[in-house]
Amino acid sequence: MPVKSAPKKKVSKSDSYECQACGLVVSVDEVCDCVDVCDIICCGQPMKRKEVKAKATKK
Ligand SMILES: [Zn+2]
Ligand SMILES: [Zn+2]
Repeated sequence: MPVKSAPKKKVSKSDSYECQACGLVVSVDEVCDCVDVCDIICCGQPMKRKEVKAKATKK
């Protein structure tokens, strides 16, 4: 069977999602098997992925 490349950003481990309505933040412990992009719903709307920048080890 043909293997489709995934253009959409899938949920990946340690991603963080933030609810724009209540500010709840969740992080992904385990990835799911969703074929398409997985929406995490809070307050009736999909949570947005939080861009986590790599921490600069500044000292
Ligand atoms: Zn899913
Ligand atoms: Zn919420």
